[in-house]
Amino acid sequence: MSESSQNEYSRSRLARESEAALNRLVETFDENPAAMEYFYDLFRRVYCRGEELPGSGVRVGTTCIHVPDELIYAVGARPVRLCNGSYHYDQIGADFMPAKSCPLVRATLGALLSEDRVPRAGKLDLIVNPTSCDQKKKASAAIAAMGHAVYDLELPNGKDSEAARVYWQRSVRDLAVRLSQLTGQRLKRNRLAEAMALVRRAEAAFRALDRLRERVPSVILGKDAFLVTNAFFFDEIERWTEAVEALNRELEERAAGDFAAAQLRAPRILFTGSPPVFPNLKLPLLIEEAGGVVVADETCSANRMLNGMAASDEWLLNDMVDALADKYLKPCTCPIFTHNDDRLRRLLDLARRFLADGVVYQTLAGCQVYDMEQRSVSEHLKREGIPMLYIETDYSPDDAGQLSTRVEAFIESINARKKVHA
Ligand code: SF4
Ligand code: SF4
Repeated sequence: MSESSQNEYSRSRLARESEAALNRLVETFDENPAAMEYFYDLFRRVYCRGEELPGSGVRVGTTCIHVPDELIYAVGARPVRLCNGSYHYDQIGADFMPAKSCPLVRATLGALLSEDRVPRAGKLDLIVNPTSCDQKKKASAAIAAMGHAVYDLELPNGKDSEAARVYWQRSVRDLAVRLSQLTGQRLKRNRLAEAMALVRRAEAAFRALDRLRERVPSVILGKDAFLVTNAFFFDEIERWTEAVEALNRELEERAAGDFAAAQLRAPRILFTGSPPVFPNLKLPLLIEEAGGVVVADETCSANRMLNGMAASDEWLLNDMVDALADKYLKPCTCPIFTHNDDRLRRLLDLARRFLADGVVYQTLAGCQVYDMEQRSVSEHLKREGIPMLYIETDYSPDDAGQLSTRVEAFIESINARKKVHA
């Protein structure tokens, strides 16, 4: 990119929106881990200065966590997750979507429409769009109408029956064929094993980070953890993994030295619901600015995306593809599935494991599935004595004051409760 277009980009609305989010994330808090500088710098370069992602070759855009990255790597291509958190792109995408639609889908469409799409990943040779929620399903035609090549990855409505599993395995096998045609590279057992090992190492780094977040007092804030997992959407996977491993080493040292990233008694929050995606990290930031600490999450921009691991033993290629398919279906607790009791169990497990004092549930306005599940989640948590704050929001900055008041009151109520139980 030429220096003049870079300067022009730096003055754009997206660059300013990203810079404001990043400055708030970095400068409002003291003693950010030194290893986080890799991620701060990455977002500055990619979002605030509009630098192109390094590398060349075939790029495959993905719009949801159900797309097996391993298959994309195994045929020599690189995945870029397109789920977008920008208010600027949300407003562009609003032209394509009904007024009461999900800002995440609108922003994804807006970014795809924009000639100046950030992250700058070059030409996307294919966009794999799983038929997950209705809005994503219907976005497929709009993306194709923009001139992008789209592949609809057929996802079953349920995930518990054998029929659903077989249906999904077939979908994933068909995707493998399509990806091979795209790059001209046959899917081979050894290439798939290597790709699975690559992703497994990234997942192991994430899990180690997750374990460090169990510590009391916390050694890292949730706003940083979300930035780390958001970087996974577009960063080069080996570099991302090494940066997370370096962060983990620093956090181990912090833990050994009794370092506290938040006060010992800071309310510990489990975050669930619609995914926070940069630059829209407003809710995690508000929680931590109010004195809470996000210690864990159940969202598809973090825990749900990186928590599963598929092994690769001495299997046949088809068995490996089927094992991958299983990894991307059964453990997923997205409310798009007809029955989703797993999510209730997962939330309770996370709340216990991370000693959460409360749950914050975010629904992006226009998302019916998260909205519809909030009641059962809230009742389930209530029976276990865990308070939940339900927030419906979007990407606009307009509700910041009102959200801040509600979040502060929630954190205050947890503090009061902790005093009573002390
Ligand atoms: S919320 Fe569900 S449908 Fe939407 S991106 Fe995440 S996993 Fe996919
Ligand atoms: S937040 Fe809801 S509507 Fe938006 S992508 Fe996720 S499941 Fe779909």
